[in-house]
Amino acid sequence: MAERIVTMIDAAAIAARVQELGKEITRDYQDKPLVLIVVLKGSFVFASDLARAVDLPLRIDFLGVRSYGEGTESSGVVQITHDLSKPIAGEDVLIVEDIVDTGLTIAHLMDLLRTRNPRSVKVCSLLHKPARARVEVKVDYLGFTIEDKFVVGYGLDFAERYRNLPYIGLVERE
Ligand code: 5GP
Repeated sequence: MAERIVTMIDAAAIAARVQELGKEITRDYQDKPLVLIVVLKGSFVFASDLARAVDLPLRIDFLGVRSYGEGTESSGVVQITHDLSKPIAGEDVLIVEDIVDTGLTIAHLMDLLRTRNPRSVKVCSLLHKPARARVEVKVDYLGFTIEDKFVVGYGLDFAERYRNLPYIGLVERE
């Protein structure tokens, strides 16, 4: 069966929203150093644009995670496949996520990172699907709220494909 991608959020709308988020983050941290924690793999495109929209002394680190779930449903049991390269004790940390769906992954990551005694931990997510929330997660900086549809592009994959699309789209079967 052939697949077709229908645009949901185009590249210009994403770029404009990323600039706004960058300004908000820059204003809130007021010249203080910040550690961006990029959750791999899905956040790599968003994080690279966001980092360039933030005017602060930034350190960027990567956290590789694999979520064990049934099909497309995450279980919240997260395996760390690549850990941070440095401690975060005493630092202001901003987790950069592609999408908060059930919220289980981000809740788990917040718990994990808090055990390392950062000064603060906040969350920036490009997308949020509130309809699917299983735990309450505060997304401090949010790009777009979307309905309960499976999306790809701008870093997000379907079986490892479509991460390189410059927009967010829906997979439709023809
Ligand atoms: P959660 O634990 O919040 O349910 O799941 C978060 C993770 O599930 C995301 O980081 C992402 O990897 C994956 N995910 C959730 N919804 C979607 C979606 O619509 N498209 C894609 N490609 N991945 C999703």
